[in-house]
Amino acid sequence: MKDTDLYRQILGIETPWKVASVDLDPEALRIEVLLTHKQGLRWACPECGELCGLHDHADERSWRHLDSCQFQTFIRARVPRVRCPDHGVRQVKVPWAEPSSRFTLLFEALAVRVLQQTSVSGGAGLLRISWDEASKIMERAVERGLAARGELDVEAIGVDEKSVGRRLGFLTLVYDLRGKRVVHIRKGRSKKALGSFFEQIEPHQLVRIKAMAMDMAKPFIAAAEESLLYPEKQIVFDRFHVMQAMNKAVDEVRRAEHKELMLQGDRSLANTMHILRYAEERLPERYAPRLEELKRSNLKAARAWALKESLRGLWGCGSLKKARVFWTSWNDWAIRSRLAPVVKVAQMVKRHITGILNYYSHKITNAVAECTNGVGACQQLSDTP
Ligand SMILES: [Zn+2]
Repeated sequence: MKDTDLYRQILGIETPWKVASVDLDPEALRIEVLLTHKQGLRWACPECGELCGLHDHADERSWRHLDSCQFQTFIRARVPRVRCPDHGVRQVKVPWAEPSSRFTLLFEALAVRVLQQTSVSGGAGLLRISWDEASKIMERAVERGLAARGELDVEAIGVDEKSVGRRLGFLTLVYDLRGKRVVHIRKGRSKKALGSFFEQIEPHQLVRIKAMAMDMAKPFIAAAEESLLYPEKQIVFDRFHVMQAMNKAVDEVRRAEHKELMLQGDRSLANTMHILRYAEERLPERYAPRLEELKRSNLKAARAWALKESLRGLWGCGSLKKARVFWTSWNDWAIRSRLAPVVKVAQMVKRHITGILNYYSHKITNAVAECTNGVGACQQLSDTP
């Protein structure tokens, strides 16, 4: 296969566009894909869709695309301009990017995913873009979400809050979990921030919503309870947030115990924070002996860790009935442990157990699929109208 064909396929370039050349600059770690189009075509006016003849071309532009391995990849093209009888000379829309963006849709889709999981500055670093570019990408995602809402048809939604830095505070994001896209963004993380999503959807759209994944934040619960038709059946408290709270509890137990031990010169728990945070099957080999040592010990941190690892089983019980039995015995164990931070988590789980176990009715979670190495997976994300 020629590299131009390969890139045509990777980029999903469709006729009339074609890949004219692929230039690789090994020193700058940069790949440039030049696109051209067939001659003698009529192009749609971006305003009215009227097919018009070619007027001329705009100056060449480039768009950052998903990296090819560690090579930053750019698409270059001269975009045709048409002369519409009603709208004058206009630049046509290209299928790979939004008019105002210097990034392709696929890159933006990846960036939105990364930025949902990180701070803006952290995400910008990972993506090798500036802070301003990152926040512009988020803004465009909001606009796409707003545009999408007119025809919103979702069965499973997720709501999450995202920190956008000390200065800007938090954003509330609502996702379409099956279509994997953001459908609503509001500043803040208040009841109103989520409530405004429900206010703007139509009754027939509300009826379609079967389930909503969320954390246990009171304002979100209040908004969902007010708006969902059967909140006690539809709210699914997210596994990720339960386990996050449990991990924090293990940390707390470990930190307090480590302090005490160090007073006696005992370094048993030094440098163990990360080891205890790993899910056991994902623990890197090099830490395995240390974990075995901890497991054999009588340390409080080791008991908290065992409770944490066990709690993960709550989502793997196979049925709601088995999960209830599992939870009852885990809860007894946690309360008996008398490890205060763990007991606190157990109480929180107990207060929210119906919503947590609604997982078994809907099988949804907020943890969005990873989107780092599959163009195909990202393709779905860019399916925003
Ligand atoms: Zn027109």
